[in-house]
Amino acid sequence: MTIVHHLSDQLLMAHAAGQLPEAFGLLVATHVSLCDECRIRLEAFEAVGGALLDRCDSVPVDEARLEACLARIGGLAPEPRPAPVPPRARPLFPAPLDAYVGGDLDKVRWRPVGMGVRQAVLRTGRGATARLLYIPAGQAVPDHGHRGLELTLVLQGAFRDESDRFGPGDVEIADPSVKHTPVAEAGADCICLAATDAPLRFTGLIPKLAQPFVRI
Ligand code: ZN
Ligand code: ZN
Repeated sequence: MTIVHHLSDQLLMAHAAGQLPEAFGLLVATHVSLCDECRIRLEAFEAVGGALLDRCDSVPVDEARLEACLARIGGLAPEPRPAPVPPRARPLFPAPLDAYVGGDLDKVRWRPVGMGVRQAVLRTGRGATARLLYIPAGQAVPDHGHRGLELTLVLQGAFRDESDRFGPGDVEIADPSVKHTPVAEAGADCICLAATDAPLRFTGLIPKLAQPFVRI
């Protein structure tokens, strides 16, 4: 897997401090499980956090103390860590995602969004929404803008939009300045994990009408 588009330092730092909403944390953990580069950067940020804590606390810092201390600094409850899952033969979903779906692709309860696109909203805490998206090869997702932050991690296939091409393991970071029409490449159907902290802003009338029903 050749990953071209990575997580930003801000996202990795916020994740290290347990400050991301659960849906973003899930996406970060899933990308990090696929990407050595981001795993090394995340470990560096976690080490910096640990060193800061060591300086104000002379007793050894264990995992639980670190969590609790970071939670106090962030003013938030510690982010739930997905339970480890034993490896299986060629799963599509990395372990952090597998824990939320309760298995691999065959366990996903898809709902149609229109034009062959399907989604499955995952159960996460408040503040952001995580969903799996299934985009048939060659199909476009309705063009839309963003009120907040949208992270999209490709698990299978690839998509292109106005900015670039995103293949397996790549993350697209879209903020309110981005308006795009992602199109799945021909060949394999595209499966993505997407996390958003605000509803998307659709340009066309039909998706706008459907929006309250599909929670996109
Ligand atoms: Zn990465
Ligand atoms: Zn988008």
